[in-house]
Amino acid sequence: MVQIHPSALSSGHRLSSYFAPSHSTSSSGTRISIARSLVLKMEQPVDGVKKLFASHSAKASSSLVCQSSLGAQEVSPRKDEWPVHGLSETVVGVLGGGQLGRMLCQAASQMAIKVITLDPLEHCPASAIAHNHVVGSFSDNVAIEEFAKRCGILTVEIEHVDADTLEKLEQRGVDCEPKASTIRIIQDKYSQKVHFSRHGIPLPEFMQIDDLESANRAGELFGYPLMIKSKRLAYDGRGNAVAKSPEVLSSAVTALGGYERGLYVEKWAPFIKELAVIVARGRDGSILCYPVVETIHKDNICHIVKAPADVPWKVRKLATEVAREAVSSLEGAGVFAVELFLTEDGQILLNEVAPRPHNSGHHTIESCYTSQFEQHLRAVVGLPLGDPSMKTPAAIMYNMLGEDEGERGFQLAHQLIRRALSIPGAAVHWYDKPEMRKQRKMGHITIIGPSMGIVEARLNAMLTEESLESQTAVQPRVGIIMGSDSDLPVMKEAAKILNMFNVPYEVRIVSAHRTPDVMFKYAKSASERGVQIIIAGAGGAAHLPGMIASLTPLPVIGVPVRASVMDGLDSLLSIVQMPRGVPVATVAVNNATNAGLLAVRMLGVADVDLQARMSQYQEGTRDEVVAKAEKLEQVGWESYSNS
Ligand code: ADP
Ligand code: MG
Repeated sequence: MVQIHPSALSSGHRLSSYFAPSHSTSSSGTRISIARSLVLKMEQPVDGVKKLFASHSAKASSSLVCQSSLGAQEVSPRKDEWPVHGLSETVVGVLGGGQLGRMLCQAASQMAIKVITLDPLEHCPASAIAHNHVVGSFSDNVAIEEFAKRCGILTVEIEHVDADTLEKLEQRGVDCEPKASTIRIIQDKYSQKVHFSRHGIPLPEFMQIDDLESANRAGELFGYPLMIKSKRLAYDGRGNAVAKSPEVLSSAVTALGGYERGLYVEKWAPFIKELAVIVARGRDGSILCYPVVETIHKDNICHIVKAPADVPWKVRKLATEVAREAVSSLEGAGVFAVELFLTEDGQILLNEVAPRPHNSGHHTIESCYTSQFEQHLRAVVGLPLGDPSMKTPAAIMYNMLGEDEGERGFQLAHQLIRRALSIPGAAVHWYDKPEMRKQRKMGHITIIGPSMGIVEARLNAMLTEESLESQTAVQPRVGIIMGSDSDLPVMKEAAKILNMFNVPYEVRIVSAHRTPDVMFKYAKSASERGVQIIIAGAGGAAHLPGMIASLTPLPVIGVPVRASVMDGLDSLLSIVQMPRGVPVATVAVNNATNAGLLAVRMLGVADVDLQARMSQYQEGTRDEVVAKAEKLEQVGWESYSNS
C-alpha cells in the first residue's frame, strides 16, 4: 500500500506515477496499468459543513456501497460525524479522461470531491488534474472492473465504454450513474432512435440498412439527400456520410466502412437551426434544464455555441419540453445533452442524446450559476442540483480546433489565445493534449457580455485581429432617435444626461412616416446590436415611439416634442395614448432630460455602479435646492432675485 502525500497532488504530478503500477495484459491485448491502492486522509469536521450535509447523509452513504479496495471506513462518513473532507466523500470514477473528464476534475477540485479517471492515455487531458489517473482502456472489462474497486460511483465522460461490464458491475451492486442501460441505448445511435421513437419523441424518420437494396429502398422512401450513419463509435461527424443521390450511395457506404460496420439512414432534417439543451437529473429524480443554446457546426464538428439561442420563446419552451421528455425516458443521474433540430415550421426534432457533459454546455462554466460539470458531480453523488440559469445575458463558446498538424498547429492556436486574452469577458480553456492534429478539439474560448451583439463583436475582434475598439468602442446601450433634425435641440438634452453618466449611446434620425423601412430595420436590429433602451422623440402626429415599441421587445421612452402648433399637446397625446399591449414610457413635453435620466435608472437595475451614480446625482440636485433655500433665507427675496 502506498500513501500519497498531499503535496504530490498539488504539484501537478500524475498520481499514476506515485504507484508501483501493475502491468497486465487484458484479454484484448491492451496493456493496462492499474494503480495499486490509495489512502485517503480524513480531516477534522467543521460545524457548517456538518449542517450542509444533514439532508444529504442518507444518499451519500448509500452511494458508498462500493467495491473499493479502500475499505468502507476509509471512504464512508464516520457514523458519528458528517463528511468533512469534501462536499461528498464519495470517490467518483470517470470512464474516459479527455477534455470533459478534465473539466469534471476542475469542478470537483472546487468542491474537494475526489475524481479518478480511467483512460488508455497516460497523458490524457484529465490526467494532470484528476485525484488519481489510471491508465487503462474503458472498453476493457478487466480494466473497468479493477477501476470500479476504487470508486464509490462510476460515471462516464464518453459513451463508448464497455456497457456489458457496467451491467455486470451494477448487478454486483456497483453504483453506475447514469445507468448501464442508458449507456447501452445511447452508444448505438440506431437503438437510441428506436428507443426515443418508442417514447414518442419527435425525430427524423430512420431505418436500418444492411445492403444496397435496403439502402436504395430507404432512398426511395426518404428522398435525397440521405443521411447515412454508422450505429456505433461515431463522434464529431466521424460516422456520418451524406448521399446526395442514389448513384453515390455505395461510395458513401464504403466511406463509412461498409454495411458490416452496422449502418442506418435518417431522413434529411431540413433544419434552420441546431439547438441543444443540457438536462440534469439528480439521484432523487429531480430534473433541471439549462437554457436552450444554438450550436453551429462546421464540417459536422461543433464550431460555435450561442447562449441563449436567438429563437422565439415558444421554440425555447418546446425544445426544453422535448429534451426533458427524452431524458425522462432514460435511467440514472447526471447531466445529459440533447441535440435538436429546429425546422422552418417551428418543429423540434431530436438528433441525439449524450449521457454526460457536452460541448454545447461548456459555456456554462462562465455563464451559468452552476456549470454542467459541477452539476454532473452534484447529480451523481446525490447533492442537490444547482441553479442552471444564466448569470450573464449572453455567451458564445468558440471551439479551438487544430488548424494544422504539429508545431504549426500549436503556433496558430497560441496566436488566437494571445488575442483572446485581451478580449473582455473571454476565458480560455486549453486541454493540454499532447498532440496537435487538424480538426482536433484542442481547447475552447467562452466570451460573455451584456448582450449577444456585444459578445459577437468581441468574437469578431478576436477572430479578425481587428482592434476591439474599432468593433466595440461605440457599442451603444441607448438609442436616441427622432423623426427629424428639427427635434435635435430638444433631444440633445437626453444625450447630455447620458454623457454625464458615461452611458454609450447613438443618435439617429428615423422617421416613422418618411422612412418607415429604416424605422423597421432600426427597431428589429437594436437589441441584437446591444441597444438596451430606446428614447424616441416625435412631434405632431407622433407615431415613432409607438411604432418602435411595437417592433422591439426593448423598453421605449417617448419624448413629446413641441411642434409649431398646439403647444406639444398633440405630440403628448399621440405618444401616451398607446393601445394596450404596446407600452411607451412617456415623459413631459420637451423633457428629454427626464428621458435620459429614466434610461439611466432602467440600466441601473442591472448595473450597481450606474445606480450608485444616480443616487449621487439625486443627492447633488437635493443639495443644490437646499443651498438655494438657505441663501434665500439668508439674503432675503429681494437681493436673491437681484443676484
Ligand atoms: P455526431 O455524433 O458526430 O455529433 P450527429 O449525428 O450529431 O453526429 O451529426 C453531426 C451533424 O450532422 C449534426 O449536428 C447535423 O449538423 C448533421 N446531421 C445529423 N443528422 C442529420 C439529419 N438527419 N439531417 C440533416 N443533418 C443532419
Ligand atoms: Mg451530434
